[in-house]
Amino acid sequence: MKVYMFHYVKDKSNYFHFDAKLFEDKIKELLKKYKIISLKDMKSNNDLNNSIMLTFDDGTIDHYEIVYPILKKLNVSGLFFIPSCIKSKKMLDIQIIHKLLEVENSEILLKKICRKLDGFGIDINNYKVDKSLDSNSMALVKQLLQFKLDKDIREKILNDLANSYHINLNVEDSYISIKHLKEMKDNNMFFGIHTKTHPRLGLLDKDEQREEISSNLNFLKSIGIVDEDLISIAFPYGSYNDETIELMKELNIKYGFKVNEDKDNYNLISRIDCNCLKEEI
Ligand SMILES: [Zn+2]
Repeated sequence: MKVYMFHYVKDKSNYFHFDAKLFEDKIKELLKKYKIISLKDMKSNNDLNNSIMLTFDDGTIDHYEIVYPILKKLNVSGLFFIPSCIKSKKMLDIQIIHKLLEVENSEILLKKICRKLDGFGIDINNYKVDKSLDSNSMALVKQLLQFKLDKDIREKILNDLANSYHINLNVEDSYISIKHLKEMKDNNMFFGIHTKTHPRLGLLDKDEQREEISSNLNFLKSIGIVDEDLISIAFPYGSYNDETIELMKELNIKYGFKVNEDKDNYNLISRIDCNCLKEEI
């Protein structure tokens, strides 16, 4: 079985977005060669050869407005990982960062971050960029604002930048509503945990991880979109550790979806980034 991981699917194709038209074409091509199965099919089928699953992270509104109508039309199921921002009404940092990078060049953003850090007496040279497919400045902007800086400073800088670029932080405009999640659930779509605030789980202690995971699970259960025997999780940024696996067992989470890695263990399932689809088939 191959599992594809999608983020944004939009009409306007850019660095972050998978093009909507291309999405539909690729699904049609896949259907000629493969069975596209649901989470439920995956559990009940023994033979998963020639099967494909489609997964979508972050619960952004394009998954309702663009992905869902295409899947419904083609009679195909998808698995959507939903963080708790719809409940908390607080936009995830990752989406704010993407919105900033859509409207501003990463080198200019990096200069602005650098100046702000100066104000806190922090030297940006203390931070080295981790290996990434992005350009150096793009990777450093993302990593600083996602997890490298201390939480308070990170939030302050992110808020300042969002304000100065007039980023729309209204959650209702950016994520699937609860009503629409329920509608999707009634039409053969499946849902899984993507944590409360989308942190790198592998960097948290076990109690913090428990809170992130169980609070999100309780939210999904409270709106009736997860089945007790099909609870799944996608680790934000693919980050997890042994304690995450312990928590999966404690909380009765059956499947963990990670980002591309060769070996599958426990019930961990590797995913292939959707950009690989552009070259394949
Ligand atoms: Zn995510």
